Amino acid sequence: MAETFVGIPKKVTAHLTQNEGLSFEKSAPGKKGYRLAPLDVPEVDPAALLGASYRSLNAQLPELSEIEIIRHFTRLSTWNYAIDLGMYPLGSCTMKYNPRVNEFVSRLEGIADAHPYQPEALAQGSLEIMRLLQECLLEITGMEAITLQPAAGAHGEFTGILLARAYHQAKGNARKTVIIPDSAHGTNPATAAMCGYEVVNFKSNPEGGIDVEALAKAVTEDTAALMLTNPSTIGVFENEIHRIADILHAKGALLYMDGANMNALCGKTRPGDFGVDVMHLNLHKTFSTPHGGGGPGSGPVACKKILDPFLPAPVVERGSDGHLRLNYDRPQSVGRVRAFYGNFGMFVRALAYILANGPDGLRQTTEDAVLNANYIRAKLEDVYELPYKTPSMHEVVFSDRRQTKNGVKTGDIAKRLIDYGFHPYTVSFPLIVPGALMIEPTESESREELDLFVEAMRQIAREVEENPEVVLNAPHFTRVSRLDETTAARRPVLRWRRQ
Ligand SMILES: *Cc1c(COP(=O)(O)O)cnc(C)c1O
Repeated sequence: MAETFVGIPKKVTAHLTQNEGLSFEKSAPGKKGYRLAPLDVPEVDPAALLGASYRSLNAQLPELSEIEIIRHFTRLSTWNYAIDLGMYPLGSCTMKYNPRVNEFVSRLEGIADAHPYQPEALAQGSLEIMRLLQECLLEITGMEAITLQPAAGAHGEFTGILLARAYHQAKGNARKTVIIPDSAHGTNPATAAMCGYEVVNFKSNPEGGIDVEALAKAVTEDTAALMLTNPSTIGVFENEIHRIADILHAKGALLYMDGANMNALCGKTRPGDFGVDVMHLNLHKTFSTPHGGGGPGSGPVACKKILDPFLPAPVVERGSDGHLRLNYDRPQSVGRVRAFYGNFGMFVRALAYILANGPDGLRQTTEDAVLNANYIRAKLEDVYELPYKTPSMHEVVFSDRRQTKNGVKTGDIAKRLIDYGFHPYTVSFPLIVPGALMIEPTESESREELDLFVEAMRQIAREVEENPEVVLNAPHFTRVSRLDETTAARRPVLRWRRQ
């Protein structure tokens, strides 16, 4: 098989193959990973000292030397892919680099050791971090009020639609439906349904955007809101956004923006200025806090003044004495959506990122993210089908139409990409593109890394023509190859047990 793999970057294959054949179990009786100083106090019998609490059975801990333990965990860390290893082009997820300065700041003693029950007078620093982050996010989004409580994007959506419901209810009618385009992230319809709304599925136009005439007909006095992702999940900016907002507002409905794709807008344009009433942000996407297994998420919700009274309590406010305080006296609030104040450690990291970049840096970040996506688009559109020709923003969506002629689908290409040392792109999403390959490089990648990725994708396209089997059976270099993905997700085995 060796000749098939020519062209794979060496950096990738080395760690994946070197441990083949080693057994997982390394413990052997009598090995020690520690050395204790000689006893300098009188020895006592632990059984006599501890009485009934003295354990009668050995704890059966593995017995290993120090280097075996170090190698074990270091090796395990290389069996997973990470942004710290290379490009992670998982479209819609904005898997950008998590800057080390964020981690440094979040570990400062006064911040890391702050306690949620600390009295306000002794928590002014923490409250100032929250206040300043809120101010920055309001400036970035052009909105007027904000909560940092939600723990993720989907949780932010839920909070935002609760605000919309409370707003309509306060006016005497909660309304019945939420309109959601067919290009939306699955969390959008789930959110609307959880908030008790009926979901009206709305078909995208041939450019992947909103058909404004059709929308004008679809919006009624029963419409609570439209949930719109902008740029959409195919990476296209909604040019008619002002008209869309006007259509909704004319019927008393609200415009909710799924702000997961803010990495394409930050520093360039502001949702608050183009008619959005309420939106969420993903600090773990746009604002560089760790994503997925790397840490808890954070999904602040920003809104216009009309929704302010309904925000979750408490809110951070500056009192007349100049001190910051937490205001729980919010009679119209939808209530708490999260214990304490949200994932505070993520606020620190996001604020560090925003301040380290500054306004010009954030704008540059957006421009680089868009440039990188368009570089990939230009370098791959002759080999992969581009279903929507509308200009791309921060991500580009191809389809597997040409490759399916040889029996290869988007999922197979993604698996083969793992052999080339890259995390797969997003597979089969958005649903409006059959066989989608959704690629979001983010601004983190250098020209050299983008070129490696492009070369890998082009090489795979050649393999599909010449030797589809190698793609259909990929990945070849991982610990396990094709898994039962449903069982792996539903019943994951996360623990090794001695047989
Ligand atoms: C990531 C994403 C979400 C959900 O965010 P989570 O933090 O994963 O809950 C919602 N909408 C879009 C468009 C997204 O990309």
